[in-house]
Amino acid sequence: MQTSNKSLYDVIIIGAGINGCTSAYFLHKAGLKVALVDKKGVASGGSGAAGAFISPKISKEGILKEIMETAHLEALKFYTEFFPEYTLQKPLLHISKTSEEGGILKSFKNETLLNLTQLDENTEVLLSDEAKNAESICFSKGAVVDAQGVCHALVKGIDFYKHEVQSLHYEENIWNVGNLRASHVVLSIGAYPKIIPLPYLTLRGIWGHRIDIQTSTVLPTILHHYVSISPTSQENIMAIGATHNVHYTPSESEPYNVEEGRRELLEKASRTVNLKNVKIIRDYAGLRSGSNDYIPLLGSLVDAQATLNLHPQLQYGRSVASSEFVNYPNVTMINGSGGYGFVLAPYLASRLRDYLVNKESLDERLSPARFFARWIKRKK
Ligand SMILES: Cc1cc2nc3c(=O)[nH]c(=O)nc-3n(C[C@H](O)[C@H](O)[C@H](O)COP(=O)(O)OP(=O)(O)OC[C@H]3O[C@@H](n4cnc5c(N)ncnc54)[C@H](O)[C@@H]3O)c2cc1C
Repeated sequence: MQTSNKSLYDVIIIGAGINGCTSAYFLHKAGLKVALVDKKGVASGGSGAAGAFISPKISKEGILKEIMETAHLEALKFYTEFFPEYTLQKPLLHISKTSEEGGILKSFKNETLLNLTQLDENTEVLLSDEAKNAESICFSKGAVVDAQGVCHALVKGIDFYKHEVQSLHYEENIWNVGNLRASHVVLSIGAYPKIIPLPYLTLRGIWGHRIDIQTSTVLPTILHHYVSISPTSQENIMAIGATHNVHYTPSESEPYNVEEGRRELLEKASRTVNLKNVKIIRDYAGLRSGSNDYIPLLGSLVDAQATLNLHPQLQYGRSVASSEFVNYPNVTMINGSGGYGFVLAPYLASRLRDYLVNKESLDERLSPARFFARWIKRKK
């Protein structure tokens, strides 16, 4: 890490995945002095491995559907307007895998705010019978982003420090992170070990593998079925992804089996479309970070010990309003995006900017404090 007496920032962002990079972009644009820190480099975690499809999430009515639809529209606008060189926009066909999903898809069609279209003939002829016969929905706009390219472009001109943060120290209203100092810290560390005590917060690491392939098949539409299959901005290169494994984290004793992942991806893709003359040219793998209720996290972090010290009655089943919880001062977490980090990042980071710069409140539904309240209930 570089050392300097002048290393006083408004905000230090720890973690340079899509959440950290998009936060850095919005805060820097709003005039804050931002330092971005990552132990390995920009887009070195789950974000560097991502597809990164800007696809809508098909879900039933509720908070998640509301957030994901707004986030999807904001993401399409954000990447196509500000980073067009890293964004390929195409229609997107979502095909259901089961009859239950087909039922959800039918109601989703009637309720969605997103624009729908007819599937084009050139795509239809490529589909397998299974894909043709399943319930499906075709969105007029989907996109695929160059994950590495867009993350690097987002942080152009922003001070970056390669450093593994072990802990944070707060003194005289200032956070100290190595040699850097700032009044506010943003934690965007994905599924990696936490650097302040948060016993109530479990983030699931969901391992994923995807591939880029060369093929002579020309696909005019992004397909989502058992896996996503998509053209990319590179001619003849298609992206196929991703596997989804909640029970695996790579380790020396259990290294990842790339061949098995490749077989799974190609087999699943073949159930949707017949791709000709396929050659695998690149593999990507990493961990997504999912919250237990699938809703992303954006907000302050409860200091569990300080809250229990102040309200010991919590341990005996009494309830305390969440406004009475003690938060770590001036720390905000942005995390828990699961398989939708690139869709959610512009939505979450622009609200983070509105909170830090324009002093607007954050959406309580995204607050990590919800997990503290649930943890306390379970402890009783
Ligand atoms: C194979 C795959 C395919 C995917 N496809 C899609 C897709 O099509 N569309 C989509 O929207 N999303 C997709 N995702 C999900 C998306 O990539 C994640 O939601 C997103 O990467 C989460 O970003 P993040 O910034 O929260 O975390 P990460 O990208 O994991 O970033 C966290 C960063 O924090 C750093 N860090 C951690 N601890 C420390 C520390 N102590 N000190 C310093 N630095 C630290 C890490 O090095 C890392 O760079 C996919 C993910 C995978 C793995």
